[in-house]
Amino acid sequence: MLNVVILGSTGSIGRQALEVIESLELDCRVTALAAHSNYQELLEQCHRFSPSRVALVDENSALQLKESSGELDVEILQGQEGLIELASDREADLVMVATVGFSGFLPTLYALRNGRKVALANKESLVVGGELLAREVPEYKELIIPVDSEHSAIYQCLQGEKRESVKKLILTASGGPFLNTSPEHLPEVTPAQALKHPNWAMGPRITIDSATFMNKGFEVLEAGWLFGVELENIEVVVHPQSIVHSLVEYQDGSVLAQMGTPDMRVPIQYSLTAPGRKSNSFPALDLNSQSLSFHEPDTEKFPCLRLAYEAGKTGGTMPACLNAADEVAVELFLKGIIKFTDIAKYVEMAMKEHELVSEPSLEDIIEADRVTRNELKKIVARLG
Ligand code: MN
Repeated sequence: MLNVVILGSTGSIGRQALEVIESLELDCRVTALAAHSNYQELLEQCHRFSPSRVALVDENSALQLKESSGELDVEILQGQEGLIELASDREADLVMVATVGFSGFLPTLYALRNGRKVALANKESLVVGGELLAREVPEYKELIIPVDSEHSAIYQCLQGEKRESVKKLILTASGGPFLNTSPEHLPEVTPAQALKHPNWAMGPRITIDSATFMNKGFEVLEAGWLFGVELENIEVVVHPQSIVHSLVEYQDGSVLAQMGTPDMRVPIQYSLTAPGRKSNSFPALDLNSQSLSFHEPDTEKFPCLRLAYEAGKTGGTMPACLNAADEVAVELFLKGIIKFTDIAKYVEMAMKEHELVSEPSLEDIIEADRVTRNELKKIVARLG
């Protein structure tokens, strides 16, 4: 019996994880759940899974939950400290970190410090904190099972292989909704258009990040830390069908790929059963009705991919700046304040103005995140 803690249980990944656990009758006990503020859904999840503890980051929502939980036998924690406490639980066999944004970093760090296995769906943890994590918890690579579909694919392709046999990692990118939009039309695209991802159903920030290719840039940095591969040995290939989820090229020229339908439940399930597998009733891949194509990404049209490689190669607090600037820019785009093409423009500006700290402490990273957000908001207010 696997004791599982799920942080971000009311988000897209968290909900699907609970669905997988319930529908496949996996040998799991959900011991704790945490969410940002959606107390109604968390309450409903408490009735379904009977966790012994839950946490809500938003303190008002935690209060609401206390008022509406009635006779439910559950301990209710609140704030970021609540999340950290659940992540550090030594009774947990697996902590799934499925929160959105940089806030997922601290729980990930605490879970790993306490030697917990982490099913990681929060990419910012590695994008922003990879360097610090490598210093603080040198054995982190053995403790993390990726949930991101590309990284799950690579993780699966690496099973039973020697790390020194790996030549290259190749991440596939769907290309998002604007793959075939001409560059002159990109400034006019609306949030509604950007939120329509052709293959994957995901949360709003990651969907916009997919449209700009920033998501793929984050995934390159994530893969670098997760698998200990230099960024120059990680490539991105556009594969609009999202059937090949990623590939590993070996020294002998063999290339292994993991394939499947674009369904996040599969990598989520694998993170809960790895290295074992369990049958399910999800739609099977039918290769008879598929043609697969691959081509090089256009980094002129989608500069975010280039910016992410740059931030990763610079290291230190630069990835924290990249992530914070992107988070602010995406939010402003979704509110209709800036154009789609301004996202990359503002991220690049923030990176140019960033005062780099190498070998950053946790405080340096938090400060870089805070300063970047404030400065970028000022720049946008000035430039309109
Ligand atoms: Mn992905």
